[in-house]
Amino acid sequence: MTASTAQADWDVLVIGAGPAGATAAGLLAQAGHRVLVLEKDPFPRFHIGESLLPAGLPVLERLGVETPGDTFVYKAGAEFVCEATGRRGVFVFRESLPGCARHAWHVERSKFDRALRDRAAALGAEVRHGETVVDAGADATRAWVRTRAETFTGRYLIDASGQSRLLARRAGAVQPYERFGHASVFTHYAGLGDDAAAELAPHNNIRIMLRPEGWGWIIPLPERRLSVGIVSRGKTTAAELEAGLLAGPMVQRLTRGARRLETHVVGNFSYKNTAPSAARCTTAGDAAGFLDPVFSSGVTLALRGAEAIADLVGPALQNGTEAAPDLLHRHDAGMERAYRTFAALIDRFYNSNFAETMFLGQNTQDQPLRRGIMSVLAGDVWREGNPFQDMLLAARRTDNRVRGGHAAGATDDARHDEH
Ligand SMILES: Cc1cc2nc3c(=O)[nH]c(=O)nc-3n(C[C@H](O)[C@H](O)[C@H](O)COP(=O)(O)OP(=O)(O)OC[C@H]3O[C@@H](n4cnc5c(N)ncnc54)[C@H](O)[C@@H]3O)c2cc1C
Repeated sequence: MTASTAQADWDVLVIGAGPAGATAAGLLAQAGHRVLVLEKDPFPRFHIGESLLPAGLPVLERLGVETPGDTFVYKAGAEFVCEATGRRGVFVFRESLPGCARHAWHVERSKFDRALRDRAAALGAEVRHGETVVDAGADATRAWVRTRAETFTGRYLIDASGQSRLLARRAGAVQPYERFGHASVFTHYAGLGDDAAAELAPHNNIRIMLRPEGWGWIIPLPERRLSVGIVSRGKTTAAELEAGLLAGPMVQRLTRGARRLETHVVGNFSYKNTAPSAARCTTAGDAAGFLDPVFSSGVTLALRGAEAIADLVGPALQNGTEAAPDLLHRHDAGMERAYRTFAALIDRFYNSNFAETMFLGQNTQDQPLRRGIMSVLAGDVWREGNPFQDMLLAARRTDNRVRGGHAAGATDDARHDEH
C-alpha cells in the first residue's frame, strides 16, 4: 500500500453483481485481494440481454463457469430477416478470422448471472445482496461506497451498476446516443412445440428482424423458451410489439401452442460515459457505456472489460500503485475503440441502407470482407488487422454522435453512405 493510502476496509469495492461486477470481483479475489460486492437485488432476478458473442467465451472459461443445458443454448451465428420482403442473410461465427471462438451461447440470464455470482463468491469475493449503493466515489487516498445504512472504504472502486451508472451520473458524464434505439418492449414464450424446436435447432441463430422504426429479435432460450422483443428509436409500446413482430408469420409459427409470459418495457438506454475512469475508480459493463443491443454486444463488452480491469488493478494493488490516475488510460482507450467499432456499425444499421445491402441476401461478399464482418459480429474487436473494422473506425461519419458534442465529423448524409 502507498504511504498516502488511508486505512481501508477492503482492497476492492464493487457495485453490482451482474456479469461485469461478478467477473471483476471473481478475478480480483482469485488474485488474492479482499473484494466486497454490493448488490441491491436478491438473485436469481430477471434480466434482459440473453445472446452472447464468441469473444466473451474465454472469460467464462477462465472464471470456471460451467455451461449446463438449463442455462446455455448453443448459438452458431446470426440471421438477419426482413419479413416484408422475405429477404434474409445468415452469418455464422465459424467464418470469422482466426483467433476467436467459433460459436457463442444464448443464456437464461437469471441463471447465468447467478452462476457468475456463485463463481465470484467461490473465488473468494464477498457478495452481499439487498445492499443499495446510494453514493460512491474516490480520491487520491481511498475509495468509498455508501449504502443507506453504512459506508465502506476500499483501495479501489469498480462501478458495475449497469444502467444505474452511478459514477457516470455523479460525474455528469452520461451522453445519450441520439441516433440509436432508445426503448424496447419484449416478452418470453414457454413451451415451444416440436416444429418450432426443430426449426430453431441445431444452429439456434439469433434472428434479427429488420423493421421500419428499428429492429426486433427472436432468441431461442433453454428449455423450449423463446425471447422476442423490439427496439425502437422513438417511444415504443406493448401494442407496437403485438401489432408488429408478434403478429408476423415467423413469431406466429414459432409460438403456436406456446404460453406467452410477462411483457417488459425499458427505455433510455443508449449512452456514452465520457469519464470511464479516474484515480482509484473505474466503470465496467453498462456503467461504462451502453450501445443499442442490435449486435448483442453488451454482455461481451462487460465480460471483456471487467477482465481487463481485473488484470490491471490486481497487480497495481500488489505494487501499491493503484492510485495512479493513469492506471486505466490504455484500458479506456482499448474499450473506446471497441465501443466505437460497434457504434459505427450500429449507426450504419440505422442511418443508411447498409443493413439491407450488407446483411440481407446471399453470401455475395468476398471472403476476406465477410470474415472481417464476422469477426466484428463475434465481438472480436480488440484485434488488429481486420480491414472491415478499420473501415468502420476510419469512416468520417462516426458513431459518437452524442448529445452535447463528440460528433467528430458526423454528417447527415447517412442514407447514402455506403460501405
Ligand atoms: C432490450 C435489451 C436487449 C439486450 N440484449 C442483449 C443481448 O442480446 N446480448 C447482450 O450481450 N446484451 C444485451 N443487452 C445488454 C445487456 O443486458 C447488458 O449489457 C449487460 O447486462 C451488462 O452487464 P452489467 O454487469 O454491466 O450490468 P447488469 O447486468 O445490469 O448488472 C448490474 C447490477 O448492478 C445492480 N445495481 C444497480 N444499481 C445498484 C445500486 N445502486 N446498488 C447496488 N447494486 C446495484 C443491479 O441490480 C444489477 O444486478 C440488452 C439490453 C437491453 C436493454
